[in-house]
Amino acid sequence: MTRTVDVFWHDACLAHDPGEGLWELPGRWPWLDEPETHPENAARLRTFRSVLRRGPVAPHLRWREGRLADVDELAAVHDRDYLAFVERACAGPARVAVDVNTVVGPGSWPAVLAAAGSALAAADAVLDGSASLAYALVRPPGHHAQPAASDGYCLVNNPALAVARARAAGLRVAVVDWDVHHGNGTQEIFYADPDVLTASIHMRHGAWGASHPQTGAPDEVGTAEGKGRNVNVELSLGAGDTAYARAFDEVVAPLVRAFRPDFLVCASGFDGSTFDPNGRHNVTAAGYRALGGRVADLADELTGGRAVVTQEGGYLRGYAALCLHGLVEGLVGVPEPLMADPLAYLPDESATHPERTDADLAAVRSALAPHWPELGW
Ligand SMILES: [Zn+2]
Repeated sequence: MTRTVDVFWHDACLAHDPGEGLWELPGRWPWLDEPETHPENAARLRTFRSVLRRGPVAPHLRWREGRLADVDELAAVHDRDYLAFVERACAGPARVAVDVNTVVGPGSWPAVLAAAGSALAAADAVLDGSASLAYALVRPPGHHAQPAASDGYCLVNNPALAVARARAAGLRVAVVDWDVHHGNGTQEIFYADPDVLTASIHMRHGAWGASHPQTGAPDEVGTAEGKGRNVNVELSLGAGDTAYARAFDEVVAPLVRAFRPDFLVCASGFDGSTFDPNGRHNVTAAGYRALGGRVADLADELTGGRAVVTQEGGYLRGYAALCLHGLVEGLVGVPEPLMADPLAYLPDESATHPERTDADLAAVRSALAPHWPELGW
């Protein structure tokens, strides 16, 4: 039996234009003959939409209209002064960098409202039963945005807004983030909340300056009542399909099961893919397909199939689109792969060096063991 995925979309997400850049960095690079676009650009989201509309998984999807959020809704997870600052920064005629790698311009505020509003529409659809698996195909991404700080192309934390919506309905929520970067904003927002389990699988990159003080290391386990409710799975560089599957099966899924959530929110990045300019991991489209299947099975087991997925990173747009298609195939649960992957030829370092993943996962288990005695870690 297959599942239907409801995809939430809003055209205003395309209006955000961070201009030029090179790999993860914004700005113009004068030694290049041809300037490159900022990696987080509208073309990537149009490509993602295109692969889901034209790819073989299309008959399993239902396209739904997103909407614009209002500021009161954003204030569920952000300071109002910060939101006013972002809105002002977007109001000028010129682009402006609001932190070391996040750039806004005239179309950015409507895009921020559309990304947030579409994530909220996806959450509301799952909460009211008109969808069970909902994918908010949005930009700018959200998972780095903290209560009062932009970071890493993120201005408003779209997955956190979906979490807050479910919390307001009295539900316990687990977050699973597989963007290659640490979901530090979501971590920060719910760091002391005992009713939200945040789990992030990412490469070992550490803090990256004033906008990103969190390290993403396993010892960031939460604080106060939320102690043990934050899970950071740092995987070694070169980690591929094997490491992601193991991180999910051996650490994330057991914790989510022990936490017993009513609702699942996923932050879905494809910058862990094997060719991504912003990542150093080797996940293939098949790896994302397997991950999608695991997530949907876990939702079936624990939350009555209810899950909201928000789009985060993924910057080599052609291959990231294949990965998105693979992930959605997994969510749908089609029995055989629907699309060939002509590009999956880099070695999976985590298959040839299992001891690296052993050590990565052992570090997470040992940091969390005191808070989860029932897991016997
Ligand atoms: Zn990322």
